[in-house]
Amino acid sequence: MNKLTELINKLRDTHTLSIDEYEYLIKNRNDEAVNLLREYAIENRRKYYDNKVFVRGLIEVSNICKNDCYYCGIRKSNLNCDRYRLTKNEILECCKEGYFLGFRTFVLQGGEDGTFTDNFVCDLLESIKKNHPDCAITLSLGERSKESYQRLYESGADRYLLRHETADEFHYSKLHPSDLTLYNRIRCLYDLKEIGYQVGCGFMVGSPHQTTKNIALDLKFIEEFQPDMCGIGPFIPHKDTIFSNEKAGDPDLCCFLLSIIRLIKPNILLPATTALGTVRNDGREKGILSGANVIMPNLSPLSVRKKYALYDGKISTGEESAQSLNKLKKSMNAIGYEVVVSRGDINKNNL
Ligand code: SAM
Repeated sequence: MNKLTELINKLRDTHTLSIDEYEYLIKNRNDEAVNLLREYAIENRRKYYDNKVFVRGLIEVSNICKNDCYYCGIRKSNLNCDRYRLTKNEILECCKEGYFLGFRTFVLQGGEDGTFTDNFVCDLLESIKKNHPDCAITLSLGERSKESYQRLYESGADRYLLRHETADEFHYSKLHPSDLTLYNRIRCLYDLKEIGYQVGCGFMVGSPHQTTKNIALDLKFIEEFQPDMCGIGPFIPHKDTIFSNEKAGDPDLCCFLLSIIRLIKPNILLPATTALGTVRNDGREKGILSGANVIMPNLSPLSVRKKYALYDGKISTGEESAQSLNKLKKSMNAIGYEVVVSRGDINKNNL
């Protein structure tokens, strides 16, 4: 047996590899390894989720942000960004429409906008839960204090997405100004977990200055942290950032990593991200066929979708949108999968 096959079998059987082994697997991957990993990933996913794909309605609540992440199109110092913030009523309307379309999870994502105080978000969460008690709410509002996360949890938030971005401190400092630290990002993730949220971490594939060793460290972090969800998608440059001339991340590598992450934690909730669907037309299908089991169509009002521009060319009015759920169902059926109406919580027991 060659070393690649040996490592893939080891990952399938033990759900762990050393950092050097992850690095070897990524550096030396070939078609045979890609196919074998994908086959194992699908086999593992089936044990927990059969052929079901969960959908989440993504509501981009604000593109106002106090942070200046170097890669992000809505960073505070981008003066070309046309800023907006949805009102409570607009967000409730999005949920109402989403519920009607068949969504049972709403993801509220936004920049770190000071208007989204604990009082405001708690009131919003309570209203959403009152209107739709059978729905789960995922928040993705960035770094907050543990007390704040606790209050939001008590008001009805079920899940929290906070990508760790990179598990390497030096790499983190190449992507963020010095007021943002990996230490605080990780602190937030552990606080969220301790409070009881279903927690998601993740990173961009092919972000500027990223090395294969960095990715190996990200995989090790995922192994150790054991998140319930993990969001990975290719980095895509934005014209108004210092990384405007960098190239986009490799979608094939992204799919390879989705398969690896599925084997690290077989019951993980793993989205085929909008960024993956942006760099490749069939990105979301390829993601599902590599081991992902979640898709997050856009439920934001049409008028703001283009303004939530984290990167150039973001798909926002086509098949990725929540209104095109029927098309999504058909495209998933065509590859043997079924979109279900469900909260889509993590399954802790084999089927
Ligand atoms: N403010 C919240 C936070 O920091 O987690 C949520 C919003 S933030 C814009 C959501 C994610 O978008 C980030 O975690 C980052 O990985 C991703 N992102 C930002 N800029 C990107 C880019 N140029 N290419 C791909 N993904 C990007």
